[in-house]
Amino acid sequence: TPPERIRNFCIIAHIDHGKSTLADRMLQLTDSVTDREMRAQYLDRMDIERERGITIKSQAVRMNWHTDGGQFALNMIDTPGHVDFSYEVSRSLAACEGAILLVDAAQGIEAQTLANLYLALENDLEIIPVLNKIDLPAADPDRFAAELANLIGGDPDDVLRVSGKTGIGVDQLLDRVVERIPAPVGDPDGATRAMIFDSVYDAYRGVVTYVRMIDGGLVPRERIQMLSTGATHELLEIGVSSPEPAPSRGLGVGEVGYLITGVKDVRQSKVGDTVTTSARPSTEPLPGYTEPKPMVFSGLYPIDAGDYPVLREALDKLKLSDAALNYEPETSVALGFGFRVGFLGLLHLEIVTERLRREFDLDLITTAPSVVYEVTTEDTSVHTVTNPSEYPEGRIVEVREPVVRAAILAPKEYVGKIMELCESRRGSLLNMDYLSEERVELRYSIPLGEIVFDFFDQLKSRTQGYASLDYEPMGEQGADLVKVDILLQGETVDAFSAIVHKDKAYSYGTMMVERLRKLIPRQQFEVPIQAAIGARIIARENIRAIRKDVLAKCYGGDISRKRKLLEKQKEGKKRMKMVGRVEVPQEAFIAALSGD
Ligand code: GDP
Ligand code: MG
Repeated sequence: TPPERIRNFCIIAHIDHGKSTLADRMLQLTDSVTDREMRAQYLDRMDIERERGITIKSQAVRMNWHTDGGQFALNMIDTPGHVDFSYEVSRSLAACEGAILLVDAAQGIEAQTLANLYLALENDLEIIPVLNKIDLPAADPDRFAAELANLIGGDPDDVLRVSGKTGIGVDQLLDRVVERIPAPVGDPDGATRAMIFDSVYDAYRGVVTYVRMIDGGLVPRERIQMLSTGATHELLEIGVSSPEPAPSRGLGVGEVGYLITGVKDVRQSKVGDTVTTSARPSTEPLPGYTEPKPMVFSGLYPIDAGDYPVLREALDKLKLSDAALNYEPETSVALGFGFRVGFLGLLHLEIVTERLRREFDLDLITTAPSVVYEVTTEDTSVHTVTNPSEYPEGRIVEVREPVVRAAILAPKEYVGKIMELCESRRGSLLNMDYLSEERVELRYSIPLGEIVFDFFDQLKSRTQGYASLDYEPMGEQGADLVKVDILLQGETVDAFSAIVHKDKAYSYGTMMVERLRKLIPRQQFEVPIQAAIGARIIARENIRAIRKDVLAKCYGGDISRKRKLLEKQKEGKKRMKMVGRVEVPQEAFIAALSGD
């Protein structure tokens, strides 16, 4: 297809505003999917995506659309809306010339609407503002059309009104895509350059790499080269998704399609990298390749120690399809053998652990999520700490923690409560804007470590669910942080060590020792539980001794009953962990970690 006949666009929206449903209607209207094949959220292929109703992976699909001006090829890229995956969103945007900015007509602009809009503007995309769900009785399109026009400039009457559910207005929207979004431009005779915006692992075909052609072209059987590594591969298949994969004879300027080389690991086909040909390699990579950076770390431990090899294998497999996943083995006194795993954010963490449970049938314990700290010690060496129990010994000169710029949108009556929450989390207000008379956007700089700990739940409960949140990294700052250890009879229980602000150390310590006193059964001897910063004890509880003799009840009588009891006790001991001389049931650790 010649570039003049191509339109590349994406749909950007806050989560739940209806991207995937709108995409469904477009697939039907363009006869890409027959009514018989249709199922809701067609492009969300992973089970977790379908069950939770969220999009995790980007998807690209080619559709044909007839207008008065003839036939056009529309490449639509459905992007995940969640902050954890904004790395994928931004790559998808770079593959497009325009974006449909979709807003729920009953909700209005939300935090991710703004975050995604800014990303689109940074990529110089043409924006088509659209209100969705106008079939809802609660829809107030006049009000939100004004809000949208106010945000991006232009006339409220220009804001299209559609329903992805009923299909109203979707054909006009496709016409507008053709009319407003510029055709792709590129040099057909130049050295080939294609941008990788997604790569997925398929058990049968290996890695499927999705690309947007910028210059030149690609044909099957050609040798291609990855610009970042220089690695070369033979192209076994080229094609387009429409939405099922359809092999093609090649891809030219402006086209969007997939490549298959038989490679088995997505890390060899990095999102953001440039593909060129071995015969005539380009020397200029396309802009925008950065390694996705894990922001949150957690320890993953199998509940049954025998599952450790299964966990290792499962992580290796997930890594094939999730280049952002990163892990290394670690051991814990309390939890045994496991892995320290890095994630893009909490939703990413949740999805990975859920997939491990489901697809690999693993029972897991996850330790409290931790961010990455940079700790400078007296000898001026800088330690990157992703696990509080690896906090360096000795005198510490400085601790730096990651900070984010958080945007919170909510009705104005909640401003007080939101400020209270942000301040209790060491946030500082950057600015505050009114989006309309009723709705406010607050911007805070907040330590990421304060957000990973139930911030979102707190925000929702204090605003009756009305607030939305988005955040982006804004560097690191020095802070008064200390490591708090929890000790059982003088021995540190590594899984409970935490890095917290000095002012919160005492409350963390007291909370943990109280919690553990309730959870750990009494022993033959007294067990002190302490919280400490270095050698200084900041909280203490005692578990009183008891003399627990299982045979006492038997009055020296029935031998077989005695034996049975002894066996039972042995059974129970298998699930005990020893911390020094103290026996702790594993359940106690799990309960203490999950905060129940
Ligand atoms: P996404 O997170 O942006 O991909 O949103 P989805 O397409 O998954 O839709 C979120 C929810 O809104 C689902 O329950 C949809 O059924 C519903 N929904 C989407 N579009 C419409 C619409 O036009 N009208 C109504 N009434 N509901 C819609
Ligand atoms: Mg979706």
